[in-house]
Amino acid sequence: MTLPANFMEQVAACYGNPSAFSELVFGSPLHAGQQRYAANANSDVNFLLPGNSFGKTELIARLVTYNCWFKDGVERPTNFSDWLSQEYKALVASFSYTIGMESFERLKNVYQNREEFRVLVKSMKNSDVTRIEFNNGAICDWGSLDGQGKLVEAARRRIIFVDEAGHIPDLAGTFDNILYPRTMGVSGRIHLFGTPKAHSDPYLLEIYEKGKDGTDPFYFSQSGSVFENEFWPDREKERVLANPRYVTGWEDCPEGGCEENLACRDGKHPILTLMGRQVILGAFIIAGGFFFNRHHIQRMFSGEHNGVWLGDTRYTVEPEEGRLYLGAFDLGGNRKRKRRNVGSDATVGVVVDYTERPWQVVRYEYIEGGSADWQQKYDLMADIFKQYSMPYLLIDSTGQIDSVSEALQDRGVEVEGIHFGGAGSKKFDMLRSLQLALELEWDTVRGLIRSPMLERMKYELDHYVLPDDDIVQDNVMVMAMLVHHLGQWELPAATMGEVF
Ligand SMILES: [Zn+2]
Repeated sequence: MTLPANFMEQVAACYGNPSAFSELVFGSPLHAGQQRYAANANSDVNFLLPGNSFGKTELIARLVTYNCWFKDGVERPTNFSDWLSQEYKALVASFSYTIGMESFERLKNVYQNREEFRVLVKSMKNSDVTRIEFNNGAICDWGSLDGQGKLVEAARRRIIFVDEAGHIPDLAGTFDNILYPRTMGVSGRIHLFGTPKAHSDPYLLEIYEKGKDGTDPFYFSQSGSVFENEFWPDREKERVLANPRYVTGWEDCPEGGCEENLACRDGKHPILTLMGRQVILGAFIIAGGFFFNRHHIQRMFSGEHNGVWLGDTRYTVEPEEGRLYLGAFDLGGNRKRKRRNVGSDATVGVVVDYTERPWQVVRYEYIEGGSADWQQKYDLMADIFKQYSMPYLLIDSTGQIDSVSEALQDRGVEVEGIHFGGAGSKKFDMLRSLQLALELEWDTVRGLIRSPMLERMKYELDHYVLPDDDIVQDNVMVMAMLVHHLGQWELPAATMGEVF
């Protein structure tokens, strides 16, 4: 077939309209959810959490072509000669080479079948490098982020797409060391696509939460509901909604209507399971995956422990001269939570002996919410601080800390307040540190912490999931706070910072 004489003008007229570009070059427009993403994902870091059949691979293939063709971005050329001469390098990457290659394979297929795409392309190769060079000089490379990104040429990238970002075990490290530096100097933008997996880096949740309400312009995030795909036939939507693994029934919509695209009809919408929320709505759910590995948790509570139990909520090993101790308290009732649960306002204290690895839990205090007055708690904390002669005591300072701090200082306690409220990165960093501490090997010993069996701690670790709004987590957070804090100087930097 021959293209109309004005075809390149038609392409040029599609600037600002990725859907029209798609229709012209690829033969079909973007669906409503893809259009919404294409129109709004203009932050430095953008995250798409697609439901199934959202068409994320197709969207990567089309958006990368659109961006390369217009050399779009902050420094977009505005005249023809700049458009031809400006260097423009894009990258499509993934943790696994085969996943990353899916969008390249799509484009190869389009290249074979559509003159409308072929006419934009100078060359496509998949040999020593996997690359498309466009006729305006723009280049898109495909590469793997595995092996610390060595396979990805260290060039500046105007736009980077990361496919299946949930598979990257250390997304924060990959972002800091590989992705973001590649965008510096050329105002590059990063697009992360994918659903969270059981072992996703919590940084993904941070991006998701910061990006969804527009409060942090550095981030943009969007959930992709399959109901936004108007090209899905109704009978297919019906078939999926009939899957009992996803939908358990129907309920009345609240007055004023529903905000989410919930497939409401006749004043009712489906009641979705967690799995259904992820698959259908693209909700951020770490489906079927607990944050900590249960085998690693089991190992933490193994070994010989010769402390003394005082009742079933207090455990103590007598302090010894010359050993190194640090303690932390999570103060029940001090922290404001998104949702309050029964049992979520306990006060929990832990002291570890970190003289050598693995570190040992030598003191544990669990005080039910409301079962001790504040003066008693302060006295206990002061007592522990002095007994174990630690340099200071860590406390969760998310809530009203001033009065707590003051009361402790009056008793001669040095306090280090750790703020980890909300969806801030501090909390995720701490959780990640604890996850790694339970998982990694030091000096041929696996797992950094050993503890006598603490039933509540084990239960909370076993059941911890993100997002954690609805779960009891006092024990988890005190341990995470302590391990993260100690890890900053007691472990080699590479272990806590970067893992591949
Ligand atoms: Zn509804």
